[in-house]
Amino acid sequence: MELRKDPITRSWVITGDDVPEPSPHSEHCLFCGDSAQPVQVISTLPGLDGNPWSARAVVHPHPLYHVEGEPTRRGDGIYDRMGSVGAHEVLLENSRHDGDLWNASDAEVEQFLRLAALRIHDLKKDSRFKYISVFKNYGKLAGQEFSHPNSQLTATTFVPRRVLYELRASRDYFESKERCVFCDILAQEERQAKRVVEVRGDYVAFCPYAPRVPYETWILPRNHEASFERTGSSRTGGVTDLAALLRCTLQRIRTVTESFHLVLHTSPNSHHRSETLGFWKTIEDDYHWHVEILPIVEAKGKSYTFKEVYYSPVTSETAVQRLREAKI
Ligand SMILES: [Zn+2]
Ligand SMILES: [Zn+2]
Ligand SMILES: [Zn+2]
Repeated sequence: MELRKDPITRSWVITGDDVPEPSPHSEHCLFCGDSAQPVQVISTLPGLDGNPWSARAVVHPHPLYHVEGEPTRRGDGIYDRMGSVGAHEVLLENSRHDGDLWNASDAEVEQFLRLAALRIHDLKKDSRFKYISVFKNYGKLAGQEFSHPNSQLTATTFVPRRVLYELRASRDYFESKERCVFCDILAQEERQAKRVVEVRGDYVAFCPYAPRVPYETWILPRNHEASFERTGSSRTGGVTDLAALLRCTLQRIRTVTESFHLVLHTSPNSHHRSETLGFWKTIEDDYHWHVEILPIVEAKGKSYTFKEVYYSPVTSETAVQRLREAKI
């Protein structure tokens, strides 16, 4: 696998030739009980109510990114490429195979959120990584990979495109108004109360004014904070209300559709001051972490363009060869 930069949009893609698909789901769960195929455990949070553990981070069995080495960015004529250095983890949300976020207890969901915060905090210490993504693909239409309740985490040497757009837009808004755009959105949504789904303590779930898909829902903390991991690792309160709100919001969404994408947007790694993001001075004030849920309502999904990091299992060289040789 390698990373290539689109010279026009300046977004990175990950590509490689015909990566073997993981074997189709067997009856046997990789992550339950004493698995015959051992997984590499990175971090485990203690169990609740007699369960062996509550949330656990493991190395992805077929990782897109590998932790060893340097990304060594190289030119290729007018193009840019680099090695697929990074981290790829599976965040198990529960020790129970049927403990999905919407039918787990609030305390269990909270443990999962704390694990995500811990992993982000930890990976941000590695200055090679510019951004840590936490996301969940649930349901066939969303490309769910494992049946055990899970989210995934990637640490990348670049900032995913959608996040980069948000960071630039938040900075521009702050430059002209000296206010956080997310705080302003939240204030208006709460005032108008037209698109708010539910409020729990310091968290608000609402449908954004200009949704990308039907039933798109965002969850934001009311108090301004750029980094999720700071909220998630605070000892007091922190993500308790978020856990309850997330659980209920997913229950709501599941009345509409089974499949959805969920993504956490938090501040990038500020140990890494890059030229493309030379605007760290205001980031603590201009960016505001949040969760986005993008349900998949129709199989056709004509204008569905969620992907933040495009992934192509065939390189363009191989593709062009096959197209040329195709019998037509
Ligand atoms: Zn399982
Ligand atoms: Zn804010
Ligand atoms: Zn976002």
